[in-house]
Amino acid sequence: MNREHTDVAVVGAGIVGCLVAREIVARAPEASVLLLDRDTVGAGASRRSAGLHCPRGATERVRRMTAYSQDYYAELKHNAPELPIHAVPMSVVASPVNASRVHEIYLDSAELTPVDPSEDRAGAPDLRLPEHARIWECRGAQYADVYALVRDLTRELRARVTLREGVHVDTMRAVGHTDPGREPDVGGVELALGTGETVTADRVVLAPGPWLAEPAWRESLAPLGARVKKIVALHVERVPTRTDRAVVFHDEDAFLLPLHASGHWLFSYTCTTWDVDPDDLAGGLSADDVDQARASLRRHAPALAEHRVSGRVFCDAYSPTGEPQVRALGDGRVVFAGAANGSGYRLAPAIAAEAADLLDLSSIPPHA
Ligand SMILES: Cc1cc2nc3c(=O)[nH]c(=O)nc-3n(C[C@H](O)[C@H](O)[C@H](O)COP(=O)(O)OP(=O)(O)OC[C@H]3O[C@@H](n4cnc5c(N)ncnc54)[C@H](O)[C@@H]3O)c2cc1C
Repeated sequence: MNREHTDVAVVGAGIVGCLVAREIVARAPEASVLLLDRDTVGAGASRRSAGLHCPRGATERVRRMTAYSQDYYAELKHNAPELPIHAVPMSVVASPVNASRVHEIYLDSAELTPVDPSEDRAGAPDLRLPEHARIWECRGAQYADVYALVRDLTRELRARVTLREGVHVDTMRAVGHTDPGREPDVGGVELALGTGETVTADRVVLAPGPWLAEPAWRESLAPLGARVKKIVALHVERVPTRTDRAVVFHDEDAFLLPLHASGHWLFSYTCTTWDVDPDDLAGGLSADDVDQARASLRRHAPALAEHRVSGRVFCDAYSPTGEPQVRALGDGRVVFAGAANGSGYRLAPAIAAEAADLLDLSSIPPHA
């Protein structure tokens, strides 16, 4: 049986795992990094993501993570303008009772500017606004084709990390150190792969997206209390114009997003179906999904709700606190990074930075 050793193994090559690997090679260029995915890169929740970055956070930590991530993506785009990250003008709609909360959660840099609802400037077609609705224009929003972004970023990463796609991690267990070139005094983590190979790593980052219940880590993650919730978004077959804006309906945590790059609108609403298995969601939209989504869309933009139905269905991991979870597990050699509550694209850079902080990368010795 083949046995391989690496300084750090990152399990899961979605947007989170990809940015974790990127962060590690930036901080520790000498480190050997193995990035593993049971599928092709980006093919999990990242592939289905609406990819909206909205400059807000419900808590102080999430606002910090939002600001950090917004700057990170802006720099990425600045350095590589061809990346599929698109600035989008955005409006926020809320009932008057929620106006102060809106001001609390949006970043100062969003520069919320009130708009007179009678001017019909929310920016999307056929909107129905709640009575006395308040509207603000907001700066700093963007959306990405997250799948394409992950593939673009991994193309660059391939020169720096060992990327293994189609390789399932079957089991994970702590072992004594097995790197033949190192003193046998430090522990490691052994990953048994679906290919029959075994890899040992000094440190492991788990970035499994909604695959929290995989046998290899189900028990280790159970104390975190994260759960998996279904996410449904409708596609509205109407071509957005250049002046159309994303509209966030704060009261219902829903949004309309003009996907200029794909030529249609997307409507996301809050689905409340919990404890789903990502491997059971390949069947597409159910009649219930369509009913719920349409009912929500009718409240905001009735004309759009009558278009022929299409959309995307998947799921994401949610934490008990509403904040992403970045935690060292057990003796600290394994770090979990995820449970970002349907915001894993927009917070991924900050999640990756927090994960790298927990890895003690400075102790990795230079390799011969
Ligand atoms: C419909 C929808 C809309 C969304 N909209 C937004 C949005 O507008 N804005 C936003 O910020 N977020 C949004 N999200 C959430 C966001 O997409 C996710 O939070 C994010 O993609 C999670 O990234 P990840 O890398 O943690 O997980 P994933 O992309 O799921 O990656 C995890 C990877 O782990 C791999 N894996 C799992 N188990 C194993 C194993 N045993 N061995 C090896 N590999 C394994 C999987 O194959 C997968 O590729 C949305 C999600 C959905 C589903």
